[in-house]
Amino acid sequence: MNELSPIERLFNTFDETAATLQQELSCTYLDALAETAENLFQQKILQDEMSDLAKKRVWKKYEETKLAGYSKEEIRQAYQLAILKGMQENVQPNHQMTPDSIGLFISYLLEKFMRGKKEFAILDPAIGTGNLLLTMLNRQPEASVSAIGVDVDDLLLKLAWCGANLMEQPVQLYNQDGLEPLFIDPADAVVCDLPVGWYPNDVRAADYELKAEEGHSFAHHLFMEQSVKHTKPGGYLFFLIPNGLFEEAGADKLHRFFQKHVHIQGIIQLPLTMFKNKQAAKSILILQKQQEGVLAPKRVFLANMPSMKDRQAMQSIMVKMDDWFKESK
Ligand code: SAM
Repeated sequence: MNELSPIERLFNTFDETAATLQQELSCTYLDALAETAENLFQQKILQDEMSDLAKKRVWKKYEETKLAGYSKEEIRQAYQLAILKGMQENVQPNHQMTPDSIGLFISYLLEKFMRGKKEFAILDPAIGTGNLLLTMLNRQPEASVSAIGVDVDDLLLKLAWCGANLMEQPVQLYNQDGLEPLFIDPADAVVCDLPVGWYPNDVRAADYELKAEEGHSFAHHLFMEQSVKHTKPGGYLFFLIPNGLFEEAGADKLHRFFQKHVHIQGIIQLPLTMFKNKQAAKSILILQKQQEGVLAPKRVFLANMPSMKDRQAMQSIMVKMDDWFKESK
């Protein structure tokens, strides 16, 4: 029999103990996963209501799991697989975890744009499970990065909190509506897989330049404005946007907002095969907040991303990006 990889072994720990907790606590798999992740991190069973037999079974699994023997990325990937399993039960499309391939590519972009900065702060105003932000953090080993995450969904935020603890990544978390005032320091970089759709709170939306003239505003527009507000001048923003962003209602206002506050650096369309249908397809939008003395790039980097499995095509897009950097910086 083939030996299990470290990721499979750790996934089994999450999966088996979450299944036991789910049964004992009569909750969803995702709730149980957050509980077991917290137990594993605290090295303690925190659910008194569990039967002794179940406690013993779960404890044995925790004891066998020597967390210190796993890398941060192994922990993230095993945890991510368990979250994906839980999300198959019932999760709204807008709450989906950001896929790994996108996280890895944005990490590459972040590294390029932060160019050797040894210390910086990053914000994700809709952090969800934390998978995207934690991918960024795990992949910047040369820099000391502090992070802030916000999400309105308490279960997803708990998953993010437990993940950050297990990976020993310093993330400050806020369980609130990300469009309400944020009491945080401005960030050097923002990354966000934007929640797409209507924002129901018209009173709050009225505080934003990007509010709709009539009816509900688009949450993804307001999230971009909120993100720009909390970015330092000269800082970078990386958004996952719907492909139709520049054609939908409010696009004119968005153009004017961008002209006034940011420089568009690049738009990279992700392969359609990554998404269920054309309407759900997304692009990566890269912005820089305006700062005195910082000019717009000579040209905006525009590309269609090939399938990530196509190594040669991926290599070629990275070479193009390098050329763009040399020419525009
Ligand atoms: N990057 C995340 C991850 O890797 O798990 C996924 C983000 S998901 C596409 C969008 C997130 O926006 C969801 O977690 C959802 O709870 C959050 N969200 C939606 N409306 C929000 C609001 N008004 N304030 C804060 N978070 C919100």
